Amino acid sequence: MDRGADSFFHFAAALLPDGWAENVRLAVADGVVVAIERAVRPQATDARLGAALPGLPNLHSHAFQRGMAGLAERRCASEDSFWTWRETMYRFVDRLTPDLLEAIAALAYVEMLESGFTRVGEFHYLHHDRDGRPFADPAAMSMAIAAAAQDSGIALTHLPVFYAHAGFGGVPPEEGQRRFLHGIDGFAALLDRLRALLSPLPDAVLGIAPHSLRAVTPEQLARLVPLAAGPIHMHVAEQVKEVEDCVAWSGARPVEWLLANMPVDSRWCFVHATHMKQTEVQAMAASGAAAGLCPITEANLGDGLFPAAPFLAAGGGYGIGTDSNILVDAMEELRLLEYGQRLAMRRRNIFASPSGSTGAALYRGALRGGAQALGASADLQIGATADFLTLDGDHPSLTGRKGDALLDGLVFAAGRSAIDGVWRRGRRLVEKGRHVRRDAIVARYRRALADILA
Ligand code: ZN
Repeated sequence: MDRGADSFFHFAAALLPDGWAENVRLAVADGVVVAIERAVRPQATDARLGAALPGLPNLHSHAFQRGMAGLAERRCASEDSFWTWRETMYRFVDRLTPDLLEAIAALAYVEMLESGFTRVGEFHYLHHDRDGRPFADPAAMSMAIAAAAQDSGIALTHLPVFYAHAGFGGVPPEEGQRRFLHGIDGFAALLDRLRALLSPLPDAVLGIAPHSLRAVTPEQLARLVPLAAGPIHMHVAEQVKEVEDCVAWSGARPVEWLLANMPVDSRWCFVHATHMKQTEVQAMAASGAAAGLCPITEANLGDGLFPAAPFLAAGGGYGIGTDSNILVDAMEELRLLEYGQRLAMRRRNIFASPSGSTGAALYRGALRGGAQALGASADLQIGATADFLTLDGDHPSLTGRKGDALLDGLVFAAGRSAIDGVWRRGRRLVEKGRHVRRDAIVARYRRALADILA
């Protein structure tokens, strides 16, 4: 058991890939789990902890948008919508430099860790300077993201975005989009550079993100897919107008078009996939692509509700994302995911398997789908990084609960207040709800926002 290990943990209970186990002992070497024992007593050198859960993957984030959280909650048009929100976002984007981006992203990542996320999928589209020209180092903005991940300790799946057009059929880009744009060759060069630059992060994953069918032509998409050595993420069918424009352009809806024209499989994550017909729901579930669901942002932007019941019935996989980071809270994402469906369907326990726990189904679903979408294991198992949360056994909402009932208590009642510690690669990054570097990272964030909002 102890061969080569440098730290040991003993949990009263732990959620392992095959279910809950009691008196679990974990041996970790250089951040990676090297042995797991069940039904054993703690040894003198063990860190003794309560119930442990694998950390959750956050499969969709635009970290910089954390800095504008709450700035678009005023009515400014007769009908405020996603599209009027996007104008506010474009104005905020104008101010960002690599240093300012790093300061904002670090705070977003600290908040993610505090709420139970241990890996982030950063869907990163802000590449160039204020005039739309590449920085001296064309990867400067990506490196700001990597530095923020390293500073906070969160695991990074970096998803550089390819963005070229303002609408279906290759509409020329707008002024507000100038910082996002690439040609295929420039994007391929960025990927090459990122492969080298991300290598010092021990468990970073590099994927690609063709932004959406609005922003990428079919010809470009066909050239991008072979460049991907990891996950492929895309915004899909988030807005009704987007679906209508797609039909006007191609005769097909976005999910329908992608499934008919691209080699969609389990490497793909369709972010949102809100507006689908029953045939699309079935075909998407069968493709193996994960649905990237972002319930808080989708509610905030007025996107609509994902067709969860038919998608689950068809065996579809999903994960959760914090997207705009208007509020960073893993348990609240899971809770709202279920509650949105309850309100729409006037039924309860939509995500649960028959007679199973809803909290457990949501948590395990987000672990499985998130891990797939981010190209990295999220289970506590040998060979995986030691990334986990520990629960506060004294929390009133967890009193007398065991096994899956702990997850129901955590997701529906306690929320993040019951998360006692968050650990990454066997290091404790969050203690009693606070990240160990919170004060310094908040101070830098404040200075950055003072600059941006001046
Ligand atoms: Zn997004």
